[in-house]
Amino acid sequence: MSELHSLLDATRDAVAQASVVCRAVQRDLNGIRSITKDDKSPVTIADFASQAIVAKVLRDRLGSVILVGEEGSATLRQPEYAGHLQAVVDAARLVWNDATTDDVLAAIDLGDARSPGASGAFWTLDPIDGTKGFLRGEQYAVSLAYILDGKVLVGGLGCPNLSLDFARSFDDPDPRGSIYLAAKGMGVLETTAELDHADPKKITRPAFNPATGIRACESVESAHSDHSASHKILAHAGGAGEPAKLDSQAKYAVVARGQADAYLRMPTKKGYVEKIWDHAAGAIVASEAGCAVSDITGAPLDFGQGEGLSNNRGIVCAAPGVQPRLVSAIRELGLASAGM
Ligand code: AMP
Ligand code: MG
Repeated sequence: MSELHSLLDATRDAVAQASVVCRAVQRDLNGIRSITKDDKSPVTIADFASQAIVAKVLRDRLGSVILVGEEGSATLRQPEYAGHLQAVVDAARLVWNDATTDDVLAAIDLGDARSPGASGAFWTLDPIDGTKGFLRGEQYAVSLAYILDGKVLVGGLGCPNLSLDFARSFDDPDPRGSIYLAAKGMGVLETTAELDHADPKKITRPAFNPATGIRACESVESAHSDHSASHKILAHAGGAGEPAKLDSQAKYAVVARGQADAYLRMPTKKGYVEKIWDHAAGAIVASEAGCAVSDITGAPLDFGQGEGLSNNRGIVCAAPGVQPRLVSAIRELGLASAGM
């Protein structure tokens, strides 16, 4: 097996196992224990359990790895969070049967590495991207990517609620969900987010149909993406109406598979730097399917600057003919310096 194949195989296993754990926790939404982090964003027991499972699978399959994850175990180790910690261990045991509390804490901390930056190889993980969607019972993603010298080589997006059936509404969680796997130069595979998933199928981005106009998608959260800016951009560039709203990097998958033509993420806050784990897996899934991915100025995403995409502002991910139209619209409307 080539190195990329074995990295992709480990990615699939890690993302599928974590997806199963997240889905089981989300089923009991009222029982979900969530903690508000210092930056005011929520974290749930499923975020911690997902990070533990991904780290454990990567370590078991690949040996020692550098994993830059969104979470750490410091909060869980505090005595007042003993109940949360037990719930995390119980969740992890759904797929890691003999896990002890110490095993789970150590696995979470495997994901506490710092990014090596411009040169070197590492993994990055958002154990639950779109935690707000997860808490609403809607879309979220387990997002894992392998980065070498600032470029994403492998990505896996577990979308436990995203149906393979386009007719199913994004608000209606699918019991099987979907997983998207991509490796540089090898395209994108699609399967269900289950342990005994069907054989993965190759997908490619269908051609944009100009007759329908640009069908876009964006964040549910107006604090994460400026909805009024995307409204203006689409009106200028020939949009097909209001963008579909869904949480997480599932948006990249939705564009990759041709259900939408564009994902726009317009900065809302001066100086906000996008996190690498919020985009690495999604960006390679979209680009390997044949989409174009850039920031709002048209610049390629630079994953070699540590934890943040500090050389970029916002995101434009779209079908090949559509991305330049959107970048031009952003420039012509004077929105290219948003977030600066
Ligand atoms: P989404 O589900 O697309 O709304 O994106 C969720 C991600 O948005 C989270 O993982 C956060 O890291 C990220 N986020 C938090 N604050 C902001 C912000 N002000 N601008 C853009 N993204 C943000
Ligand atoms: Mg995230």
